[in-house]
Amino acid sequence: MTATIAIGSYSDTDKAALISSFDPVFIAGPADLATLDETTRAGITTVAFKGHAPFDGAVMDLLPKLGLIANFGVGYDAIDVVAASARGIKVTNTPDVLNDDVADIAVGMLLMQLREMEKASAWARSGSWKDKGEYRLNRKASGAKAGIVGLGRIGREIANRLAAFKMDIHYFARSEKDTPDWTYHADPVALAQEVDYLVVALVGGPDTENFVTKEMLAALGPRGILVNISRGSTVDEAALLDALEQGTLGGAGLDVFRNEPHIDPRFYALENVVIQPHQGSGTVETRAAMGQLQRDNVAAFLAGSALLTPVN
Ligand code: NAP
Repeated sequence: MTATIAIGSYSDTDKAALISSFDPVFIAGPADLATLDETTRAGITTVAFKGHAPFDGAVMDLLPKLGLIANFGVGYDAIDVVAASARGIKVTNTPDVLNDDVADIAVGMLLMQLREMEKASAWARSGSWKDKGEYRLNRKASGAKAGIVGLGRIGREIANRLAAFKMDIHYFARSEKDTPDWTYHADPVALAQEVDYLVVALVGGPDTENFVTKEMLAALGPRGILVNISRGSTVDEAALLDALEQGTLGGAGLDVFRNEPHIDPRFYALENVVIQPHQGSGTVETRAAMGQLQRDNVAAFLAGSALLTPVN
């Protein structure tokens, strides 16, 4: 009898690796656990979890012997870690292996906004370049002030990249970091006021819900650009849509949204938004590394060894 359930949509490679290592039962989401018979559920000690559907205490209670939820991804806001800890269930995630890719997407979206690459490409493809002439002038990255909201693992990689683009780095975190070349702001509104562009790299979850407020967006202003690679929940999305529609915010580059993939259709009508389909870590290489780390955590748990990347 298998001790492992794999929840979520896995690539063929990850699926094969999970089968050869753990021979798990596969289900699409936590809600499907209730469809498994009681004997199967009673034997499960380990869940390999992928996705963003809520994994709460009620779901955990369907698996009385559950000892580990190994998350595929660094962000574990879908998992109720307090409920897990209360039940003696360990949670792991996949930090660090995805930092570079997520930072690349953040910087890419900012450059797409500044240099209007999506619109300029459409200008050339439509024949406007040959018929109407040069594309309009846009904005310079080097020399501008960039603000990072959340200087964690990914935030630092974004800051490193933007510093290499000769941008002046400012940041908010709950405590000042040992980064002498970068300017700390304890107040996120003051940070938004100071910088030209703001990149959000916070954790998701209830503590950071609507962290980027209407006031911060107003402080960023009509020439400002907001980039978000964290979670849709960290930004007041209604205020963001209003600001983008009214031009009180210059533009946005967004990899994450509320209610993904059924995002608010108001985004589709906005020309000042670059939309990415939550693909920050979506490279072959990084997803393979994330899958390997998830499986290494499962294997460690089943062997009674120390977990590689515990969350609780
Ligand atoms: P991390 O190293 O834990 O950094 C998280 C940052 O959030 C830290 O700067 C931390 O501030 C801040 N933070 C945490 N709780 C906070 C609170 N209550 N109020 C204010 N700030 C708070 O995490 P990471 O590895 O960089 O990942 C960050 C997030 O990126 C993940 O949680 C995930 O949601 C998202 N992500 C997105 C993608 C994508 O595909 N778009 C891929 C991977 C990850 P302190 O320094 O003050 O502790």
